[in-house]
Amino acid sequence: MNYHGGCQCGAVRYRAEGKRGRASLCFCRMCQKAGGAPFMAFVRFEAARVNWDGEPAVFASSNAVERGFCRECGTPLSYRDVAGPYISLTIHSLDDPSAVQPEISFSSAARPDWCLHLGNLTPLEMDRDEEPGFLSHQR
Ligand SMILES: [Zn+2]
Repeated sequence: MNYHGGCQCGAVRYRAEGKRGRASLCFCRMCQKAGGAPFMAFVRFEAARVNWDGEPAVFASSNAVERGFCRECGTPLSYRDVAGPYISLTIHSLDDPSAVQPEISFSSAARPDWCLHLGNLTPLEMDRDEEPGFLSHQR
């Protein structure tokens, strides 16, 4: 199976071929910083079987890890242990993120407790005329 994806602006596209590896969530502080979010969601492939159209910028978040992102729009795209044969792609940069569901999680100690209760949040539709999910439900 092939997986296609890319960044928000379209400057970077990728195609991942072959069998995918594990799909995971990571709650570590580096992933939280990299995404500006409570966690990152990744699916792993053999790095040699991922073809890029457009070159991601790379940030070395440690001396063992490189994180790829679009230099134009900032979309986080990948995580790579530079010593290993694999690259992990962000699940939600896939054109069809529903094709992959996380199976494992890392660094749960840094997971906010409220992540266990996402189903309890008040569901609102996005409306361009108001702050998303902020005031309207208090009417
Ligand atoms: Zn982009």
